[in-house]
Amino acid sequence: MSLLKIEGLHAEVDGHPILKGVDLEVASGRVEAIMGPNGSGKSTLQHVLMGRPGYTVTAGTVTLDGTDLLALPTHERAAAGLFVGLQYPVEIPGIGFVEFLSEALAATGRRATGSGAGIAEVVRLEADRLGLATALLDRPLNVGLSGGEKKRLETIQLAVLAPKIAILDELDSGLDVDALRQVSQRVESLTHPGDAGAAAGREPLGVLVITHYNRLLFELRPDRVHVFIAGQIVESGGPELAAELEQTGYEQIARRHGLSSTQAFVAPPDPFADPGF
Ligand code: ADP
Ligand code: MG
Repeated sequence: MSLLKIEGLHAEVDGHPILKGVDLEVASGRVEAIMGPNGSGKSTLQHVLMGRPGYTVTAGTVTLDGTDLLALPTHERAAAGLFVGLQYPVEIPGIGFVEFLSEALAATGRRATGSGAGIAEVVRLEADRLGLATALLDRPLNVGLSGGEKKRLETIQLAVLAPKIAILDELDSGLDVDALRQVSQRVESLTHPGDAGAAAGREPLGVLVITHYNRLLFELRPDRVHVFIAGQIVESGGPELAAELEQTGYEQIARRHGLSSTQAFVAPPDPFADPGF
């Protein structure tokens, strides 16, 4: 069983404080959901956890099973068992998906889960399961794929790499209803691998899912919902909190916590709209 532990995390970008004291735990087999308005710092949290250049941690700690993640370069965080699903998956023209995944798997020092089958075979089975045309697997990584296809590919990576903890940013962006259901159900099943999974050496996945929308959470049912406003978690509750947000919006919660709407809702142009790396 694994535990990602974030304590008192403060971080800034270009000298601007964005994260203002985040405390959160994500354990194996659990789904923690972060919901919050645009520009509140949700993606920043993900970037900081993965160690993206340009983000400076000014206070706090992040550990995975006691290992200080903040002291590690990005690839070692991945090797330690952290997986990040990007809001905008990156296109890499020079490399095929299976080749990419083999490299990624080798870097973690693990083998493909799922019996003794080779990685290409495991990938094909996962693609079937997610309703992704297998012909797309032979394309250069993500090149020319729709948003839904990219997210399905990313979900295959997640299933094959079998990290301890996955942070999935806007998993629902660009997904139609069918893709949303397939992807959420696959992620959900990874959090409950059952007897077959246990036999294949799978630990239940722990998930931190970041989303604007309640609809994702019908499929990928969170154990806890955390409302994220102005760089911090201001309220946490059960799944019913997501339903409440749908009704009331964020503004009421912001006010309850003494945050003015300007503080809570500044949404300047998103500097991360371009994947950048
Ligand atoms: P979310 O994912 O919640 O929509 P982000 O984490 O993408 O929010 O952005 C949080 C805030 O950080 C935004 O207000 C954004 O404009 C700000 N920000 C990010 N990078 C910079 C920067 N280089 N300079 C100033 N502000 C920045
Ligand atoms: Mg974002």
